Amino acid sequence: MNTRSISFRLVAWYAGLLAGIFLLLSASLYLDLRRFLENDLLQSQSRRTRQIANTLLIHVKQTGEPYVASQTKDWFAPQINDRFIRITRADGTLVYVSDAPKDGSFDPAEVPLFPPSPKSEFSHKLKLSGGNTLLIAALNFKSSGNPDYLVEFGALLDPVETMLNHLFLQLSLGLPLAVIITTVGGYFLVRRALTPVAQITRAAERITQHNLSERLPVARTGDELERLSVSLNRMIARLDDGFQNSKRFVADASHDLRTPLTILRGELENFAGDVRLDAELRDRAGSMMEEVVHLGKIVEQLFTLSRLDAGEAQTEWTRFDLTELARTTSEQMNLLAEDKGISISCEASQPAPVEGNRVRLKQVVVNLLDNAIKYTPAKGAIHLRVFPVNGHAVLEVEDTGIGIPSAALPHIFERFYRVDPARSADAESAGLGLSIVKSICTAHGAEVKVRSAPGAGSCFHVELPLSKN
Ligand code: ADP
Repeated sequence: MNTRSISFRLVAWYAGLLAGIFLLLSASLYLDLRRFLENDLLQSQSRRTRQIANTLLIHVKQTGEPYVASQTKDWFAPQINDRFIRITRADGTLVYVSDAPKDGSFDPAEVPLFPPSPKSEFSHKLKLSGGNTLLIAALNFKSSGNPDYLVEFGALLDPVETMLNHLFLQLSLGLPLAVIITTVGGYFLVRRALTPVAQITRAAERITQHNLSERLPVARTGDELERLSVSLNRMIARLDDGFQNSKRFVADASHDLRTPLTILRGELENFAGDVRLDAELRDRAGSMMEEVVHLGKIVEQLFTLSRLDAGEAQTEWTRFDLTELARTTSEQMNLLAEDKGISISCEASQPAPVEGNRVRLKQVVVNLLDNAIKYTPAKGAIHLRVFPVNGHAVLEVEDTGIGIPSAALPHIFERFYRVDPARSADAESAGLGLSIVKSICTAHGAEVKVRSAPGAGSCFHVELPLSKN
């Protein structure tokens, strides 16, 4: 899982925030409810202490303490209702204390006499030995003409605790479940919302300089992603325009330069061969002619590239045998190699039928052999191999030449890239031969790879789909 992806980060934030908010809400709900229930219980007990004080103790002088005790017992039936009631005099002596409740949940004898309080009403929370908690509301009864009493009315907090524990359990199970469900839901929502991004990314990956006419998908959702893809499409259209303009410029320039260069070359040839002219002048004309020839070659290569860019290699397709093409081409170039004292061996015995533009595929063989000859010193060897394998026709040109440094390998198919113009054989090259090879291969759905090491030679490997017919 990609932890840096937008969907992961959004969902992680969302889940974190949600869990935090749920936790805060649950904690405040739990604490508020506990406070409310305890207060409610306390208030109902305080009401009863007041009831005892205002209805019984207020007349204690006339009725006597035993009447107060018996009335209290009759009214509130503490042992049946699980209540604790105690009435004490100011000196701490007992007037009345309730019996233990029927269920034996607490023992009234366990409840100590609390220190006196100056407040008229107050409360105590008492943890009993059995684990129960008793909440006691107390009232200091003071009335002129009557003795002072302390009235205490208590009830167990356990029903409240049981209910709160129940709520706590529900919250601790429900909260993670709610976070998981909303997070999973959120994840799918985010994924759905970001699907156009994945589609745009895939389409953008496919667009190269060769298919700039393609456009990114536009999801008509009216959101930011629609605006983004529309803007990106406009940018691609502008790039396409610029690219087409520069291609047209190169095509026009190389086309228009060919004729004047041919004329110039012819004129200089005439000068160089004119015996009536001074020898030095003829020499200069000769070297100028060489430069013009070199220039002509570059213009020719540029013209070839511009035609390949325009899709020329996809026209005039025929079915032919690559083995036979490689063999005849190597025979034709053998002379050039022999001049340099280099041998060319051709291992091409099995037929390798392919479909494509024969002229252009021949140019691939020529350019690779030409480079091998250029960059291999005398007494070197070149091996040309053609063989079918796994539905492909493989063409390999291997030499024992100067090789290519590894840092240069990723660039050698780029236009005008030369490894090192100072290498003697590079001096007359422009760095276009291999980009022509690459363009032709791409147009034929072929792959071209190179293996090379300085001083150990190079091996160019072209893989072309075999003809299925
Ligand atoms: P050019 O047509 O000018 O030779 P290429 O595009 O064919 O240019 O080659 C690009 C660079 O790759 C050249 O500068 C050359 O140094 C290097 N190169 C190509 N083929 C070989 C080879 N067989 N051996 C060594 N270097 C090579």
